[in-house]
Amino acid sequence: MSYFEQLGLAEPILRALNDKGYADPTPIQKQAIPALMEGRDLLGIAQTGTGKTAAFSLPSLHHLAKNPTGRYPSGCRMLVLSPTRELAAQIADNMRGYAKFLDLSVQCIFGGLPASKQARKLVPGCDVLVATPGRLLDLIEQRALTLRHVEIFVLDEADQMMDLGFIKPLTRIAAMLPEDRQSLFFSATMPKAIADLGKRFIKNPVRVEVAPQSTTAERVEQYGTFINQAEKQALLTLTLRAGLDDKSIDRSLVFTRTKHGADKVVRHLVAAGINAAAIHGNKTQAQRTRALDGFRNGTVPVLVATDIAARGIDVSGVSHVFNFEIPNVSEQYVHRIGRTARAGADGIAISYIAADEKPYIKGIERLTGVKLTPMPLPSDFQLQARTLPAPAPKRSGAERAPGGGQHNRGRGPGGNGRSNNGGRGRDGASRGTPGGGGKRGGANGGARSGGRSDGGRGPVTNPVTSAKPRDERGGGDRRSRGRPSY
Ligand code: AMP
Repeated sequence: MSYFEQLGLAEPILRALNDKGYADPTPIQKQAIPALMEGRDLLGIAQTGTGKTAAFSLPSLHHLAKNPTGRYPSGCRMLVLSPTRELAAQIADNMRGYAKFLDLSVQCIFGGLPASKQARKLVPGCDVLVATPGRLLDLIEQRALTLRHVEIFVLDEADQMMDLGFIKPLTRIAAMLPEDRQSLFFSATMPKAIADLGKRFIKNPVRVEVAPQSTTAERVEQYGTFINQAEKQALLTLTLRAGLDDKSIDRSLVFTRTKHGADKVVRHLVAAGINAAAIHGNKTQAQRTRALDGFRNGTVPVLVATDIAARGIDVSGVSHVFNFEIPNVSEQYVHRIGRTARAGADGIAISYIAADEKPYIKGIERLTGVKLTPMPLPSDFQLQARTLPAPAPKRSGAERAPGGGQHNRGRGPGGNGRSNNGGRGRDGASRGTPGGGGKRGGANGGARSGGRSDGGRGPVTNPVTSAKPRDERGGGDRRSRGRPSY
């Protein structure tokens, strides 16, 4: 008898798990499911990629199936709130998978798509509603939705929800929920202030924690390179190009602090022949979906994201996470690097640290208890940086549609491959200032930029080309505890 059977989950759920190939529960599932089956409230703290979604979905679907009430017009019996659209869509997809042999309907609503269409879907009511807070409130205001019948309320990525300024919408939503409900909070990190806020919404919860709080995702090798802000782009481009070519990099997520910054990085990468797409709050929903689909199916190996957009993204095979800019909130670092090394795979996180970002790294190392391993710049970095092409001038609509164009890697700028400016020529691109203005070193400006980075003095190890293919890397303890600090 499998553990899932022992838990007493309904047979159609077991069949769905079997179809998915889940033989055993993950630790968070093992701890959370029995308490949830008893109807307890729960505060679940688990690292990213640990199976949180199934942990809250399986017992909830079991409860809904075993206690049929019929559907309430414009109502739902279970409400799952997510901070981002992508995560909401992902949760709904997962839940549909787990519920595929049950007569339960799962709907998903989030901003960026017409509200009227979503309102129509809600008319007959549904069993499970996955939503982002803003759109949920919109639809309630339009009287397209009522929360009067909610029996189970789930807040995923709860700390981030509250951190992102969702506290007011959350308070409003919580006030509309029936008192008599089951509430579940899941989060990878839970600073005390946020946990205290959470107490407003959950009653006497069972606390389930599968890894010490803020433990950096296990099996992520964590490196840091000291570098001038102006030279970061060139290093990223060179590292990605070399890694994708020699296959030591499969799929990379690059985090920038701003939306504009994400677009700029993409323009540089695309100019250098690297197929990349950006995902952030200024993109239309269609662009976000296309970028994520391309990243998932492998046509776009590099996704450049702001923190908000990347929240909760579960894409297998993310080998590298690059922190192009260091987050000033230490917990965010844990979330970022948790995008790699999901579901048992290993991963590499590389942080580019400018002088003014050093205090953030100190905070991160304090939080995680892990010292970043120094990764020096390649000895010929300046030389290589000067060979990089400049990006095409910025145009409205930002970079080319992800996955759409031809990959021009290896053909170089001006070659006959289609470049990111749609073959309209690169007029002045290599003569002008890359990135469209301002003082910057970037792609080909490294040598011109003011101060030297530490790299020129570092050992000759070349992080761009020295990486072994992933399957050749040795095992052993890859944690960087005890390594020299900055
Ligand atoms: P989550 O933390 O919910 O995003 O889940 C991370 C990944 O683990 C997802 O790709 C799930 O499909 C997968 N997963 C969840 N539970 C199990 C399980 N019991 N066995 C194997 N894979 C699982």
